[in-house]
Amino acid sequence: MNAPPLPGAASPSAPVRRQVIVIAGNPNAGKTSLFNRLTGGSQQVGNYPGVTVEHKEGVMRHQDRRLPVIDLPGTYSLTAYSLEERVARDFIIDEEPALVVDVVDASNMERNLYLAVQLMEMRVPLVIALNMIDVAESRGLRIDTARLSLLLGVPVVATVGSRGRGVDELIETCAAVLDGTLDALPQPVHYGHQVDEEIEGLARLITENAVEENRFEPSWLAVKLLEKDPSATMRIRRIAGARQGLVEEAAEAAVLRIERHYKDDAATIIAERRYGVAAGAVRQCVSRVTESRMDLTDRIDNVVCGRVTGPVILVAVVAALFFWVFKLSDEWAWMPWFGGWVSPTGLINWAIARLSDMLAPTQDSMPMLHSLFDAALVRGVGGVLGFVPLIFFMFLFIAALEDSGYIARVAFILDRLLRMFGMQGNSILALIVSGGLGAGGCAVPGIMATRTLREEKDRLVTMLVAPFMNCGAKMPVYAVLIAAFFPQSRTEMMLLLWAVSWLVALAAAWMLRRFVVRGEQTPFVMELPPYHVPVLRGVLLHTWERTWLYIKRAGTIILAVNIVLWVFMYFPRPADGPDGKPPTAAEGLSHSMAGRFGHALEPVTKLAGFDWRTNIALLGGFATKEVVIGALGTVYAMDVEKTGDNAPLAARLASEPDWSPRRAFAMMLFVMLYAPCMSTITVIARESGSWKWAAFATLYSTAIAFVIALAAYQAGKLVG
Ligand code: GDP
Ligand code: MG
Repeated sequence: MNAPPLPGAASPSAPVRRQVIVIAGNPNAGKTSLFNRLTGGSQQVGNYPGVTVEHKEGVMRHQDRRLPVIDLPGTYSLTAYSLEERVARDFIIDEEPALVVDVVDASNMERNLYLAVQLMEMRVPLVIALNMIDVAESRGLRIDTARLSLLLGVPVVATVGSRGRGVDELIETCAAVLDGTLDALPQPVHYGHQVDEEIEGLARLITENAVEENRFEPSWLAVKLLEKDPSATMRIRRIAGARQGLVEEAAEAAVLRIERHYKDDAATIIAERRYGVAAGAVRQCVSRVTESRMDLTDRIDNVVCGRVTGPVILVAVVAALFFWVFKLSDEWAWMPWFGGWVSPTGLINWAIARLSDMLAPTQDSMPMLHSLFDAALVRGVGGVLGFVPLIFFMFLFIAALEDSGYIARVAFILDRLLRMFGMQGNSILALIVSGGLGAGGCAVPGIMATRTLREEKDRLVTMLVAPFMNCGAKMPVYAVLIAAFFPQSRTEMMLLLWAVSWLVALAAAWMLRRFVVRGEQTPFVMELPPYHVPVLRGVLLHTWERTWLYIKRAGTIILAVNIVLWVFMYFPRPADGPDGKPPTAAEGLSHSMAGRFGHALEPVTKLAGFDWRTNIALLGGFATKEVVIGALGTVYAMDVEKTGDNAPLAARLASEPDWSPRRAFAMMLFVMLYAPCMSTITVIARESGSWKWAAFATLYSTAIAFVIALAAYQAGKLVG
């Protein structure tokens, strides 16, 4: 029962455009068995042009259609180093098959998916035949094919090639893809932020410089160039002609940057990332992983991503991180010339106080200039710098955890939870950097960290809730108010504030997703890159980048804002008293523009317990939250920042009759939640691409903050 000769079968590489289906897969995955089932045994055997690799072609019948099917050589990968791989790869590129069917051995999924990931990279229409499903089931593996299909973006059909199970469905699926009624274009593959950026740039360059019509994805060629694939270089020579040098140089520079960053071969990094995609897909879709590739990473992941052990380890890691961050920034540093152990934070505060002392002699001769320099520059900007050690060590540990591969696991563990609230596992990094661990962070680098998120909507939601986290600038407010009103329960209060920030962030994300940033959430593979010992250079670079973003605020926006604020809080000046004495700082403030504004708002803010003095401090906080405590110190005529000691202000507030724990708590909630600081707003505008979102962030968070502070204050009144 021989089929009639096929058109073009003798020379498969001849440029006849026809709808061809090719079958790819690892050796022994069951390709030939499936091929025979699909074609009913009708086939022709030949060689690929110019090489001795066997080539089999048959015909698949669907209704009254006849579709040529070609069985590619079995390969584990698609590099250019082995003949089979090169034949398979060139065939896909040069023949432009209408569809690739990848036969995946379900009992050995991770290794088989490595090839699938490479087919996905080529961005050809792809259908996965999840073969040997019987073997997988007999080993107790449960595979969620629907989920796998959703994650990879391609149809997945479970089959048993040797017995023909699932073959009809496979034929129907292929026909539907060819008819255009079923989408089979794979999801793009991601290799980590760093590498993705290089690929994007290189792909753009290739598109700009290719003279001949491109038959393949420029991004695929970019990946191959980064892998230093020799046949990719040859292709570039062909398509870029005289401008090949430009592309090649750019590729070499990109490889150097990647290798400097990761301290490893670029090709190795990319291969590891592919395994990361495969491993992530397996972990997300296969339950009860018993056998398969049980290397070190797998064995660690069974514990680290475990249902029970995972969260326990997460809590332990966070606790350890806290312990060390505070120890290093606040307690430890051996400085013999300062007489022993000093903390970096202490050193900075000491330097700021000395600088302020140096300005003191000018206080009487030039009171206005002194006030400007002392309040706006030295103490205002200095106050921000005082948090640099805390933030530096925080970012250092986070970067090390990120580099080790652990943050990817945290994202994996929390993905389901965060998705329920309209974010995704990868949002966790942005939230942690913003201060999600409870103390010390900064929303500016936090919002920059959302760049690693793939979904625009998830990214926007994450950006809008990240400022609710407890950043370093909110700490002094908590410190003073807790010392004044809750001295017996410091830890409990900090825990409570931490919990509130998360509850509000999650609830806000849920609401935003429901009413503002609407749209379906698309699942995707969460890569689990192999564990690494962190590379010092990369970690330091990351830490420095984030810390620098924080420091830069001090020198730019915060400085400018402090000067403007100072003007508002200094002018107009009240007249000298009848005894000829100049007004005190507190009198001056009450009379100033800020003071008048504070008075004007009092009728409304009183509902949440804030009087005009608190209003002044909170108004200042709209610019940067660092100024809240300083401004409060000024209104209560307490010189807090010069001594670096908050005790006098705390004592003063505790003794004020109209202050109460209830009011202090409402104020802490308000400071935690209201408008992001000016620098954060700028970054939101830049990263979201629109000032509309920045304005929205300011308004909605202030509204939330006021409602919650008011509720807490009024509820406190009821309970007494
Ligand atoms: P190829 O190397 O990918 O072409 O794989 P073959 O089609 O030659 O199959 C390799 C072996 O696996 C053969 O003995 C097949 O009978 C067997 N086989 C193929 N598909 C299945 C399947 O789905 N289940 C089981 N249990 N065996 C299969
Ligand atoms: Mg075979």
